[in-house]
Amino acid sequence: MKADFDNSFARLPSGMFSALGPTPVKEPALITTNAALAADIGVTFTEDDLAHFAGNAVPEGAAPLAQLYAGHQFGQWNPQLGDGRAILLGEVVNGGNRHDIQLKGSGLTPYSRGGDGRAWLGPVLREYVVSEAMHALGVPTTRALAAVTTGEDVYRETVLPGAILTRVASSHIRVGTFQIYAARGQIDHLQALYDYTVARHYPDVTNPGALLDAVIARQAKLIAEWMGLGFIHGVMNTDNASIAGETIDYGPCAFMDSYHPARVFSAIDQFGRYAYQNQPQIGAWNMAQFATALIPLMPDRDQAIEDFTKAVNAMIPQYEAAWRDVFGRKLGISNPTEDDVPLIADLLTLMAEDQTDFTAVFADIEAARDQFLNRDGFDDWQARWALRRNAEPVNPQIIPRNHQVEAMITAAAAGDFAPFHALLAAVTDPYAPLTDAARELAKPPTEEELVTRTFCGT
Ligand code: AMP
Ligand code: MG
Repeated sequence: MKADFDNSFARLPSGMFSALGPTPVKEPALITTNAALAADIGVTFTEDDLAHFAGNAVPEGAAPLAQLYAGHQFGQWNPQLGDGRAILLGEVVNGGNRHDIQLKGSGLTPYSRGGDGRAWLGPVLREYVVSEAMHALGVPTTRALAAVTTGEDVYRETVLPGAILTRVASSHIRVGTFQIYAARGQIDHLQALYDYTVARHYPDVTNPGALLDAVIARQAKLIAEWMGLGFIHGVMNTDNASIAGETIDYGPCAFMDSYHPARVFSAIDQFGRYAYQNQPQIGAWNMAQFATALIPLMPDRDQAIEDFTKAVNAMIPQYEAAWRDVFGRKLGISNPTEDDVPLIADLLTLMAEDQTDFTAVFADIEAARDQFLNRDGFDDWQARWALRRNAEPVNPQIIPRNHQVEAMITAAAAGDFAPFHALLAAVTDPYAPLTDAARELAKPPTEEELVTRTFCGT
């Protein structure tokens, strides 16, 4: 890959990262590259791509490093995390736009803790497909530039094929990146990170309170978009909360099939902390942790606590307004207000009662009657809806369903990448009428196909 690298993060104080490169792998092979994304971010493919995407060579101008951060994981404070299996190659600049290029699964770093620094094929392909689908669905997200197999074994519960994802992000600055310096009392680092973040993402911001407001606004919108897709992130830890407001870290995430507000997929989320319906509250909780991390930058601590509490409390109303906009779009209501909430909520209640398929109901909302057991209930709802709707409903015809993601991974692990390419093609064109191939992939799972648990698979 060739690009105009400008590695601003590498110019931050040295205690904020470890400069090191990826660890070479034995026998890399290319799975795919993303030409459209490359063009967008100003990356040109070259004959060295395989070596670059495998971490066997570093592109000219890159200054690779592993970032330090901390975070609350399932509400528990972890004082030190960091890129344990990822290397930031550097930032590429195209016009006014700057993007991180990161290898994920690229070997040990000082932050690997007990891990091996590697990834296996399953989570790499899952993140590739789901993040690219998310982008096509119009939701802010990290992207996938390339995927390679390493020719090396990765040991989890079984022996699995190793792989590396090349991830592109507006940045990899997380709530946890701020938290670590606040917790350590390293105010100079915290100030440097604040200045850096404002310059990079929020140039209009003039003080930490304004940064908090700006990040809250983006997170509120982001989570509303997830809710509109039936998307469950699964690991909304503060180290997975992007300051730029992008969806980041696709682990045990899932688009739910049949709708229930309490749905949880992640096998490690025993208490349902990150259930579908909890996501807005967790988002606000994460913003409270961000606010706490910004307080040391404020001259008057008590005043800051008061102001920041107000800012965090304002997130849920912002989220609710964004949620109305999202579901208004889905139902063809161009100017949704508070008065439309019962109409939206009543449909969701009918869906939850019958556990109808979330995507399929909205994909053909005019003709969704047969998907309900309570058809009278749906008829009544539809009559109310007809009186209110004033625009075309906009809904995806396809999302990456769990059972198709699993099937694609199983095939790829056995050497057949055709299902990966087919699923990727289908889910990256979600608003178009379905092709015959896509129609199969869009179908809700049968009882035998249903996937109810997802795994981090790290
Ligand atoms: P995640 O839950 O994927 O956001 O990861 C949480 C933390 O665990 C991050 O600091 C990761 O870098 C680290 N981690 C996850 N998997 C591995 C691995 N295989 N080797 C080293 N570190 C890992
Ligand atoms: Mg993470």
